[in-house]
Amino acid sequence: MAKTYSDLFAELRQSVKTMPLDEVKARFDARASRPVTLLDVREKDEFRAGYIPGAVHIARAYLEAQAEQKLPDKNAEIIVYCASGNRSLFAAKTLLDFGYTNVVSANPGFVRWKDLRYPVETPPNLTPAQLDRYSRHILLPEVGERGQEKLLKGRVLLLGAGGLGAPAALYLAAAGVGTLGLVDADEVDASNLQRQIIHATSRIGMAKVDSAEKALVDLNPDVKVVKYKERFLSSNADRILGDGWDVIVDGCDNFPTRYLVNDASLFHKTPVVHGSIFRFDGQVTTFMPWDGPCYRCLYPEPPPPELSPSCSEAGVLGILPGLIGILQATEAVKLILGQGELLKGRLLTYDSMKMTFRTLKLRRDPNCPACGKNPTIKEYIDYEGFCLGTAPH
Ligand SMILES: [Zn+2]
Repeated sequence: MAKTYSDLFAELRQSVKTMPLDEVKARFDARASRPVTLLDVREKDEFRAGYIPGAVHIARAYLEAQAEQKLPDKNAEIIVYCASGNRSLFAAKTLLDFGYTNVVSANPGFVRWKDLRYPVETPPNLTPAQLDRYSRHILLPEVGERGQEKLLKGRVLLLGAGGLGAPAALYLAAAGVGTLGLVDADEVDASNLQRQIIHATSRIGMAKVDSAEKALVDLNPDVKVVKYKERFLSSNADRILGDGWDVIVDGCDNFPTRYLVNDASLFHKTPVVHGSIFRFDGQVTTFMPWDGPCYRCLYPEPPPPELSPSCSEAGVLGILPGLIGILQATEAVKLILGQGELLKGRLLTYDSMKMTFRTLKLRRDPNCPACGKNPTIKEYIDYEGFCLGTAPH
């Protein structure tokens, strides 16, 4: 005789363990010391209206197809839940049949969980257009909707809309970093276009901040551009950093600005992703203020002008700043997401001719004049200008 739904359900209750909600709540509360996976098998719309914080979502209909990818550890403790405890029972049985060893079904389910005022999280409020635009980010567990929301709220200040700033800004805009600040006093020149791909032949003569804004907003209308058509100086550093930035992407390769950026980042506790290029070589590091080394830990004072390369005259392989700027953008995105290992205390160097990367350790200097035990630098220092003409890249 054919089984009825209630027969099947009675059988499931025999073969699948259930867990009352107060126990689920206790396991949830202890999850930091004893990891547990909460699996939500409701439909997408139900999930989007609210779920148990940290829950993995696989709609019941996709469980067979997605279980191995989203639940790779077959011995992990898994608590399956749905709205009332029925679908989760079927889902738990499926997982047991797939060889998962430690699966229970919550009883009843999320409706009651919510009534009990247990913790509930709702997904970020991304529009359908944003869910589509950033879908390749959202598929990454390290980003997801929550991470994309962080990026959209993120604020990155780019010093220079030139060789390093151009590729960094384009990729940050594409990634959906919501606010990009651009500091650059220059106009687009034909000789910039060999590498500054944010600009265009049709915009020669236009202010770089305006030209860059046009490219960025055209690429992604989610992005707001804050323009500073000025050079970064001791007289405006506090005003610009006072606007509040998560991270500075430093693409200004002249010594006075480099020291100014360093000191300002310490005063304002704003991290700096530093990049520099010369001919065929580039380097990147991330300065975390008062945590890792700062620029002055490495070079306490600028070299005398006659010993420093005349950067505005130096040639550079056009592609090189693209690569270094994109490494800087990658650091900025990781910093906003709070994911991965930053280049804190590490200098990544790149030799395009040998096609090699190397990593050098950098150490914080306890006697650093800016971030040491007894810092002597308490205000901005204007170093005598060399290589001050224009942004050199
Ligand atoms: Zn230092």
